[in-house]
Amino acid sequence: MAILQIRTVPDPILRRKSRRVRAVDDAIRKLARDMIATLHDAGGIGLAAPQVGELKRLVVLQLPDEDDPRILVNPEITRREGEREVEEGCLSVPGYLGTIMRAERVKARAVNEWGAKLRLTAEEMFAQALEHEVDHLDGILYLDHLKSHEDLHEIGADDESEHQHDFAVEVEDNGLMKSRGEKRILIAGNSHGGIAEVKDEVIVKATEKDLGRLSGW
Ligand SMILES: [Zn+2]
Repeated sequence: MAILQIRTVPDPILRRKSRRVRAVDDAIRKLARDMIATLHDAGGIGLAAPQVGELKRLVVLQLPDEDDPRILVNPEITRREGEREVEEGCLSVPGYLGTIMRAERVKARAVNEWGAKLRLTAEEMFAQALEHEVDHLDGILYLDHLKSHEDLHEIGADDESEHQHDFAVEVEDNGLMKSRGEKRILIAGNSHGGIAEVKDEVIVKATEKDLGRLSGW
């Protein structure tokens, strides 16, 4: 498996529409495996093929609460329900998180790496990741969903990535965590392991490096 180069803004390939995958063959399976290796290396949650320079409708997901990665070929969102405010980042937009609206629940269809049809019902981070990755296949970035520039936040503005700071952050009722300062992060309620430390359900310690990892979509 190879670690692929992740394209970042303003690379124009991120704005192009990806083509449907006609045949789920060995080449697609190899690309998917390399994308998973790249996603794991980056510590991200999802990756779409155009982010590694391939205009194919293929995405991989590694949800924090799931052991196995998911490979979705030709994913399509068939239904969106509800609306909620989320924090979102992207491996192709390093160093930033934005506050945008996403659906509460989505239904989607796709095929897996063996060509079998899948029907998916997703909530929470899974739903958000699906919407985010399918957007990539249409050349859409989460930045396009920002209502104002003030909804975009820079992570670790002092940019000392080797130097790990500890932040005290609060846990919100909905399982999202928000730092006390300007830095806001998204984390699934059950994905604390190895990332952040929760005490008395209030105080959490996360390193700056971890904040970067959490922005990996
Ligand atoms: Zn992304």
